[in-house]
Amino acid sequence: MEAVQAAIQPNTRLVLVETPTNPRQRICDLRRLAEITHANGALLAVDNTLLSPYLQQPLARGADLVIHSATKSLSGHSDLTAGVLALNDSKLIEELYLIQNGEGGGLAPFDSWLLLRGIKTLAVRIDRQQSNAQQLAEYLLDHPAIQRVHYPGLRCHPGHELHLAQASGAGSLVSFETGSAEASQRILESLSLFTLTVSLGSVSSFASLPCRFSHASIPDRVRSDHGLPDDLVRLAVGIEKAEDLLQDLDQSLSLVNPIYSVPGVPRKRH
Ligand SMILES: *Cc1c(COP(=O)(O)O)cnc(C)c1O
Repeated sequence: MEAVQAAIQPNTRLVLVETPTNPRQRICDLRRLAEITHANGALLAVDNTLLSPYLQQPLARGADLVIHSATKSLSGHSDLTAGVLALNDSKLIEELYLIQNGEGGGLAPFDSWLLLRGIKTLAVRIDRQQSNAQQLAEYLLDHPAIQRVHYPGLRCHPGHELHLAQASGAGSLVSFETGSAEASQRILESLSLFTLTVSLGSVSSFASLPCRFSHASIPDRVRSDHGLPDDLVRLAVGIEKAEDLLQDLDQSLSLVNPIYSVPGVPRKRH
């Protein structure tokens, strides 16, 4: 909060945040961010893609704009590209609608229909994905080849309590560190149920190495300054049977464990 306060300049108009962050799953306090932002005459925008409105509603905690990539959980089947802006201020809505209308940004009828159909199953998909994610996170936490697990549904996660005070669930994204980028790459390559792709929020499970996929364009030093290690694996958990996902992870981890696990290296608990 001090860093945000210090970064705000007299000409700051908008503060854009994400909580949990992708892929490190850091949590920030939305209510306090809204207070700081508003005290300085700026607006708070929250990218809520990771949780969807089913699990977190930032407008109710003081945010002014909520952004969703509807490509992810809202549609849920990786078959369209769309976005949603949610606001509760009619003047701001009109200003943004004028831009949208002027720019000609509109969703095609078939994509709109797919999105509406996807939203009907949002709650059941998320419940299942989240339950799977919790089981995978707990399994990873106890696995000797894994050094750290990042999932706000784990009691050892440093933002666990704050997260559950402002959201109704931990979501379906789990990330973990193995201590070796090479080991992480091998784990990814030997998974068979998880598709190697950067998207998330789908009924199908995906795995990626953010430093080589979604975050590859960020320079190495900036990535490490932001605590994004090269060995971090990101799992976007789908609705498959939990035992099948656990078995797939287990077989892939057993391939690297004897080669890469270093005995005697203490494991951190989050
Ligand atoms: C994917 C993603 C986006 C971009 O959305 P597109 O629909 O792919 O343009 C923005 N924010 C977050 C958090 C995302 O995961």
